[in-house]
Amino acid sequence: MRREDLTHMAELITTGEIRMDEPMKRHTTLGIGGPAEIFVRPGDREELLRLLRYAAAEKIPVQLLGSGSNCLVSDAGVSGLVISLAGTLNHLTIEGDRVVVQAGVMLGHLVRRCRAAGLAGLESLGGVPGTVGGALVMNAGAFGAEISTHLTAVNVVNHQGRERRYAREDLSFGYRSSSFEPGEIIIGGEFKFPWGQEEQVAKASRLASRERKTRQPLTKRSAGSVFKNPRPDLAAGWLLDEAGLKGTRIGDAQISPQHANFFINRGSATAEDMARLIKLAAGTIKARFKVQLELEIRTLGFPRGFWEEAGLGR
Ligand SMILES: Cc1cc2nc3c(=O)[nH]c(=O)nc-3n(C[C@H](O)[C@H](O)[C@H](O)COP(=O)(O)OP(=O)(O)OC[C@H]3O[C@@H](n4cnc5c(N)ncnc54)[C@H](O)[C@@H]3O)c2cc1C
Repeated sequence: MRREDLTHMAELITTGEIRMDEPMKRHTTLGIGGPAEIFVRPGDREELLRLLRYAAAEKIPVQLLGSGSNCLVSDAGVSGLVISLAGTLNHLTIEGDRVVVQAGVMLGHLVRRCRAAGLAGLESLGGVPGTVGGALVMNAGAFGAEISTHLTAVNVVNHQGRERRYAREDLSFGYRSSSFEPGEIIIGGEFKFPWGQEEQVAKASRLASRERKTRQPLTKRSAGSVFKNPRPDLAAGWLLDEAGLKGTRIGDAQISPQHANFFINRGSATAEDMARLIKLAAGTIKARFKVQLELEIRTLGFPRGFWEEAGLGR
């Protein structure tokens, strides 16, 4: 990137933050990832739009990040611009059963606010450590609930800075997938939740939280489930466990001894360690069960073809 691009972008970002060569390991729950050439957390929606328009005009590649809880970033890092909405665009209003929320709000915060307002539907998603934007793109779900169920509209902006509003019926959501166009950035969502019985909502939250604490390595650095379940009745974690892969290590990357679909960073794992472990696991499952696993986590900054050669491309 040219020096003048950085200078110009720094002028556009007056209330947010902009950094050069920012280590992505600081912005992913795995604690892995090389530098983003330019890392920006826009102060508000207008700064985001100005930045996108500049990047489009100057043909600077843009990657989006929420709280980085579902991402593996390469050791080489990411060229161009990485925009993070975590900790920004975090306005939330509740009026009756309607909730209007910006994309940077943490899902846990949305869940707590809904619960306090007597609204039901999201309680079992309380432990998902993502932003609302990331959760909508991934259609985050847990214990039978999905973020998209009570969604009524989504506002997005494309990489040219053009805004668009989707009604719920214009969108489709599947298991950890959504129909947003590549490059569309979610800036906010609207929901209409059913009223909940306080005791039932509290009970569902407690159950989900207890399940997570017993089944998942929550004190370790991870990105949640690495692979999607191949079928609703066939869990990737079960296959990995059956193949005896729990505890397998490459460098400081390890398949959690507690939950085989959570791959953890024991301290100083590199993206290369993690990628080799992921490929080893997928290869083992293919050879043993003739099942091709698919990545649930999103990957950033890897060379073209890197994942495809292991059958793990999208
Ligand atoms: C301990 C742990 C437990 C987890 N449990 C669950 C679980 O139970 N269920 C579940 O579904 N997931 C789970 N996850 C995974 C993860 O938290 C979710 O997928 C979450 O919704 C990702 O949100 P994020 O903001 O961190 O997104 P990121 O990881 O930052 O990004 C994920 C993808 O979304 C894109 N993206 C992010 N924000 C936007 C935006 N505003 N507009 C457009 N694109 C965007 C990114 O480009 C990337 O492709 C877990 C993760 C951890 C670490």
